[in-house]
Amino acid sequence: MSQENNLLKKVISHAKEYGFVFPSSEIYDGLSATYDYGQYGVELKNHLKRYWWEAMVQLNPNIVGLDAAIFMHPTTWKASGHTDAFNDPLIDNKDSKKRYRADVLIEDHIAKIEGKINKEVEKASKRFGDDFDKTQFLATNPRVLQNQEKITKINERLKSSLSSGELTDLKLLIEELGIADPVSGSKNWTEVRQFNLMFSTELGSVADESNKIYLRPETAQGIFVNFLNVQKTGRMRIPFGIAQIGKAFRNEIIARQFIFRMREFEQMEMQFFVKPGEELQWYDQWKEKRMRWHQALGLGEENYRFHDHLNLAHYANAACDIEFQFPMGFKELEGIHSRTDFDLKAHEQHSGKKLQFYDPQEEQSYVPFVIETSIGLDRLFLALLATAYKEETLEDGSNRTVLRLPAPLAPIKAAILPLLNKDDLPEKAQSILNDLRFDFLLQYDAKDAIGRRYRRQDAIGTPFCITVDHQTLEDETVTLRHRDSMKQDRVNIETLKDTLTTHCSLSSLLRQL
Ligand code: ATP
Repeated sequence: MSQENNLLKKVISHAKEYGFVFPSSEIYDGLSATYDYGQYGVELKNHLKRYWWEAMVQLNPNIVGLDAAIFMHPTTWKASGHTDAFNDPLIDNKDSKKRYRADVLIEDHIAKIEGKINKEVEKASKRFGDDFDKTQFLATNPRVLQNQEKITKINERLKSSLSSGELTDLKLLIEELGIADPVSGSKNWTEVRQFNLMFSTELGSVADESNKIYLRPETAQGIFVNFLNVQKTGRMRIPFGIAQIGKAFRNEIIARQFIFRMREFEQMEMQFFVKPGEELQWYDQWKEKRMRWHQALGLGEENYRFHDHLNLAHYANAACDIEFQFPMGFKELEGIHSRTDFDLKAHEQHSGKKLQFYDPQEEQSYVPFVIETSIGLDRLFLALLATAYKEETLEDGSNRTVLRLPAPLAPIKAAILPLLNKDDLPEKAQSILNDLRFDFLLQYDAKDAIGRRYRRQDAIGTPFCITVDHQTLEDETVTLRHRDSMKQDRVNIETLKDTLTTHCSLSSLLRQL
C-alpha cells in the first residue's frame, strides 16, 4: 500500500475511534459515502465554520450573511442551468462492472504524463545542481516538449467534446489513449452517457412531475435569488457580498475517499457583486485573500497551490481552484470563479423580475457581475485532520499519536486532571473547571494514570492539560502541559484564563488576515 493511502486509512480509523467521524447508520452496515460527525468532529467543524464566517462577515463591512432554504422553486434550477446541464459523463467497464467519470479517466491520464515531465525535471535538477534553470529546461528539453504537446492536444479534445456534448468523441479519446480500467486493467468500455447529479423528490402528497423539486446541488442559487432582498433591506452598495454556509447534495457517480467526495456535504460560499468590467480585478483580490485565509491555519504553505481552469464553464470568464495536498495528492479544496452576470440575468429572464443595482453616481441600473468563492467544509475538515495527524516516537522510546490542530480550532481547549482521585484534588479541579467553563469547552478526567490521560488528550488535539496536585492546595499553582512540545510549566491558577484566551481564541487566526 502506498504511504499516502496508508495515511488516509489511519486518519479514517483515528477519526472513528476518537469520535470525530462515524460511518452513517453504521448499525445497518452504513450507507455508502455518507458520514456523521461525532462529538469532537462537530466541535471542530463548528470552529471551522466560525473561522470562515467571521473572516467573511465580521471582518468585511460590505459582506453580510444569509441562510436560505435547501428546497427552492424548481425554476431556479432551470435558470441556473442545472436541470439541463449539471451532468457528468459516465462510462462503465464491461469486465470489472466499475463505473467512472469519463473526463476524470482522461484527466488522470494527463496527470500521468505530467508525472513524467516532473521526473525529467527532477533528474535534470540532480544532474545540473545549482546551475539548473528549470524554466529553460521546460522550454527546450525535447522529451518535455513532446509530452507538453500531448497534454495540450488531449486538453483541447477534452474541452471541445465536453462543451459540444460529443460523448462518442470522449469514448474515442479514451480508446485512442489506451486508457485501461485502473482496477482490472481492462479496456472493454461501454458508451459514455450523461448523468444528472441532482437529487429529486416530490413536494406534498401528490407524486407527479409538476411537484418535482430538487435538493440544492450548491448553496449559491439561494444567494442569487435573494440578491434584491438583501441589497434593498441592507441598503448595500456595490461592491458587496453575501455569505452562506449550508448543505448541498449531489448524486456523485463515484463518491469516495472518505469525506472528500460525498453525496451530502456542506459548502461555505460567498458571492461578491461588482460593477461590470471590474470583475477580474476583484477576482485577483479574492484569490489572494482566500489563499491568505488558508495559510493562516499553519498547515504549511507548500501544501497549497492554485490551479487555473483551462476549460471554463459556460458562465465564467476566469476560474481557479485552490488545491491542497491531501493524502491522495493535490486536489481541489476551494473554487474561485468569476461568474459574470450569468446567474442574475438568467433569473431575470425566468422570473420576469429585475435583478439590478441602481448606481447613483452613474445614474443608471445594471446587472452586477459576480465573483464567487466556494469551499467544501468537509474537505477542509479532512485537510486539517490529515495534516494534523502525527505519530511520534518520544525520547524515552514510547509512541504517541497526536493531532496537532491549531489551538483555536481544537474541539477541547483544555483538560483538567486531578493527579489523584482523592485528597480534595477532584474538588479543587472541579472548582477550576467551574471558573473556566463559561469561556472554554473543557474536559474533566480523573481516570487512569496521568500519562494515559495525556495521551488521550493528545489524540483528540487538546492543546493544554491542567494538572492539579497536592501543591495546588497549598499555593494555588497547577501544571500546565503543552500538547506539541509536551513542556510542563508551573503556573498560577489566576493566569489560566489569559493563557487559554491568547492561544485558543479565533481572533489569533483572524488577526493574521
Ligand atoms: P469536483 O471537481 O471535485 O467535483 P466541483 O468543481 O464540482 O468539485 P464546486 O462545484 O466548485 O466543486 O463546489 C465547490 C466546493 O464544494 C469544492 O471546491 C469542494 O470543496 C466542495 N465539493 C464539491 N463537491 C463535493 C462533494 N461531492 N463532497 C464534498 N465536497 C464537495
